[in-house]
Amino acid sequence: MKPAKIIWKNNHLAQLKSAKELSFNQGLNYGACIYEGVRCYQTPRGPAIFRLPEHRKRFFNSAKILHLPLPFNQIEFTAAVKTLIRKNHLTNAYLRPIAYYSDPKMGINVLNSKSTALIFAWPWKILRKKPPVRLAITRYRRLDPRTVNLNAKIAGYYANGLLGFLDVRQKGYDEPLFLDTKGYVAEGAVNNIFVIKGRRIYTPQLGPILSGITRNTIIRIARDLGYKISEIKMKPSFLKNADEIFLTGTGTELTPVSVIRGYFQPKIISLSASQRIQTYYSKIVQGEIKKYQSWLTFVKKNKKTC
Ligand code: PMP
Repeated sequence: MKPAKIIWKNNHLAQLKSAKELSFNQGLNYGACIYEGVRCYQTPRGPAIFRLPEHRKRFFNSAKILHLPLPFNQIEFTAAVKTLIRKNHLTNAYLRPIAYYSDPKMGINVLNSKSTALIFAWPWKILRKKPPVRLAITRYRRLDPRTVNLNAKIAGYYANGLLGFLDVRQKGYDEPLFLDTKGYVAEGAVNNIFVIKGRRIYTPQLGPILSGITRNTIIRIARDLGYKISEIKMKPSFLKNADEIFLTGTGTELTPVSVIRGYFQPKIISLSASQRIQTYYSKIVQGEIKKYQSWLTFVKKNKKTC
């Protein structure tokens, strides 16, 4: 998919091509870079950004953890995101705010280095039916929360996700499932995991995983559909008698899982509960459920925003 032509660069709108060149810098060399993934959806009141305050909070917190200076405050960031959507005439879209240490400096000392912040945008298709993915548990363990601060979305961490991805791709699977350093089920490379058994839904406890915003949404809405949600420590054997398993993330929402190598391969793939939750999620993000309208930040001027 091609990104939209206009981007946000530091404190102004810029052409996409102005961000293409990449020189030597600490962001690239040490993964000293933070990012977010944010979705915008078309609603009856025009485009609306889903759970923007939560994404914004996580982005600014990631910057704080990396001591990375940002060129905007939270209000200016919100205005930038909205302007970008308007200028690119986007409705259903994906936004990628990113900031990194951009000084062409050698050495690990990032203190007092300059940074660059960019926001890219893509028009994004709404998929009615998501193809299921086949997972395998990777031989790499998820980063231990004692080795990094997992509340931040720091690009350097994704070397772990990437190695897991390459590991399972070589074995013929779509995506990796990570165990934590104690052997419990953690998460995917870029998504959280949910396991359905009857009317109960389970997801790994916070700690060795990213506290996904979609994960939080599912936890909060599943009760409306009559499910009981538990955050637990899950050994891989727990996956064996699951009815359904799905992954969650801002970009892909809910992705059904059809296989987890050696642990989950139902004879009949039932997606009914996952599909029900996905349908409800779609209604929420598209502004059809009044109760959750406060999760939407409307892009149009002179409308109530959160
Ligand atoms: N875990 C990891 C490691 C991720 O990178 C992501 C994507 N941000 C997620 C989980 C899902 O998080 P969210 O629902 O906030 O997109």
